Amino acid sequence: MIVLKRPKEIEQMRAAGRLVAEAHRLVKQMVAPGVSTLEIDQEVEALFEKHGATPLFKGYPGKVPFPAVCCISVNEQVVHGIPGNRKLIAGDLLKVDTGCRLEGWCGDSAWSYAVGEIDPVKKKLMQIGEENLMLAIRSLATARSWSDVARAMQTHVREAGFSVVEQFVGHGIGREMHEEPQVPNFVSQEMAKHDFRLTPGIVLAIEPMVNAGKKEVRVLNDHWTVETKDKKPSVHFEHTVAITENGPLILTTLDAQ
Ligand code: MG
Ligand code: MG
Repeated sequence: MIVLKRPKEIEQMRAAGRLVAEAHRLVKQMVAPGVSTLEIDQEVEALFEKHGATPLFKGYPGKVPFPAVCCISVNEQVVHGIPGNRKLIAGDLLKVDTGCRLEGWCGDSAWSYAVGEIDPVKKKLMQIGEENLMLAIRSLATARSWSDVARAMQTHVREAGFSVVEQFVGHGIGREMHEEPQVPNFVSQEMAKHDFRLTPGIVLAIEPMVNAGKKEVRVLNDHWTVETKDKKPSVHFEHTVAITENGPLILTTLDAQ
């Protein structure tokens, strides 16, 4: 069942959303050759702690609990990478995904970052990935059902010659990070069964993952890191977005809307 949020609750969700956006501003400032992924994670953890927010990823249940506050994935890694001693080098394509709970509400956002100068394929991938997320958010204003949005995203990615990851999807979000519904970035017969009407009060974490090569991914034996099977690069962009009477509202941003 999709839990609809009242306008007042959506306003309350902005606090968590803003803090997650603040974390990304911090990450953007830090990204440089020589910085380790663990250093980035530690800074975000300190930011959440300073604001009394609870990190949502640390301890997340799996075969082994997720050990960090951010998922940090590099190049061919798609999502769920574990921060560590790996130092960034110029040309890397970094993905940072993080979330927190503040005042009882959750925010979740991922972004892709270029480390120094990146090659043209990675550049194009970043452009298409970000466009894809923003296209989805804009479409919420007029689309009737989520499948209309997903179809537009799929088309945009295919036209660029890239592929949409199908093994991971977005999600509803509210008091819990993962709520119903599932929010796929593609259309299929299976997903059509879970399609839903877009109505005010729905809050979604929309998070397309786009691969430069084929869509297939695998999980490494650390039980978390997901990488592309063909080892080609991947991007991930995610915002927590509310559908309101006045249209879509991005919660995980510091920008005026
Ligand atoms: Mg996320
Ligand atoms: Mg998410």
